[in-house]
Amino acid sequence: MREAENGRIAHTNHYHTEHMRKIDISHNAYYKHSRKVVRALRGRRVRESSEARYSRIMQLLAQGGELELSDLISIARDHAGGEGADNTVCRHSEYFNTTWSIIFIPSEKVIKALVGYPCQQEYEEYRVG
Ligand SMILES: [Zn+2]
Repeated sequence: MREAENGRIAHTNHYHTEHMRKIDISHNAYYKHSRKVVRALRGRRVRESSEARYSRIMQLLAQGGELELSDLISIARDHAGGEGADNTVCRHSEYFNTTWSIIFIPSEKVIKALVGYPCQQEYEEYRVG
């Protein structure tokens, strides 16, 4: 079971619990400089983007008190004050990109979802109860 950090919990694409870290790829694993690897990834650290995006999300979640829906949408659209890139929460790169986003609001039995980049799309609302 994973515990929230300061009342917040988020995830990107790597494990956080000791149990799951045992089966995850090493923190220092790199993509090979090989023709078998997509050019955009060659020589890069595998978890670089996932860890950078997680750190940014936790930094944004640590600001302020009560979170509003608009705060969550802003986090999903975050480009760290610049252009969308491989290490921004809303990920834009030559190879990996954000392709969908979903926000659950359990107390209202609502799901907000979009397909594509959060910075370029609006969320649609789905009622589930
Ligand atoms: Zn974006």
